[in-house]
Amino acid sequence: MANQGVLQAWLYGKAVECTEPKPAKAYHLVLLGAPGVGKGTQAEYLTKKLGAVQLSTGDVFRAAKGTDESALSPAMQEAMKAMKAGLLVSDDTVIDLVRERTACLTSGYGFMLDGFPRTVHQAEALEGMLSGLGIKLDAVLNYTLPIDEVVKRLSGRRTCKQCKGTAHVVFNPPKQEGVCDKCGGELFQREDDQPASIRVRLQAYDESTSPLAAYYEKQGLLVNVNAEGTPEEIFAQTEKLLA
Ligand code: AMP
Repeated sequence: MANQGVLQAWLYGKAVECTEPKPAKAYHLVLLGAPGVGKGTQAEYLTKKLGAVQLSTGDVFRAAKGTDESALSPAMQEAMKAMKAGLLVSDDTVIDLVRERTACLTSGYGFMLDGFPRTVHQAEALEGMLSGLGIKLDAVLNYTLPIDEVVKRLSGRRTCKQCKGTAHVVFNPPKQEGVCDKCGGELFQREDDQPASIRVRLQAYDESTSPLAAYYEKQGLLVNVNAEGTPEEIFAQTEKLLA
């Protein structure tokens, strides 16, 4: 089909070809929410439902982490250090990274930006990029959850080394401890899901990312979604709000 396989998209930070037909409506969405609210899971559900391409800047950085350090640019090496400490990567590095992936914004499949923008400066840069491309955001989905719940979710989260799927030691335990239900890969705790990093990440979120909600509210784009409940319940709510 003419529409298929024409685009490089990004899955878990790696370039892949889209093979699905383009959706009737291309959604242009930003997903906001503190680390651990379940944005990544919602992005997966939304990708399946809407056909939009997910771009997660965190996934791009994590993919780079596995690369030989000497092969990384100095900016990327700095980014790795910031990420390891749970700090935000510099605005310039993140903005360049998204700009290099403009094809993801213009694909015709629509997009879901997960983890970007994270500061008002990044949001302004995105606005500049999109207006240059003649694209308007449809909505900014803001997933909200009480802080204690966020800490519980993050500290118990385990990620599969192979398929990057997640489990939770309390809320969604794997059938066999330490083994991914989906693919049998090894489950591990992400470095930035360790308690010390979690605190830094939440502080970074509060200082830099919370003001974004106000920024998008002013533009009439903000849609608040209560992120309490099962992933299915949260998705049902998201669908209702989007409709
Ligand atoms: P995430 O998976 O979205 O929580 O991102 C993991 C880490 O990648 C963050 O803690 C930051 O170090 C870095 N990162 C991802 N996206 C951004 C962004 N938009 N701005 C700054 N740092 C980012």
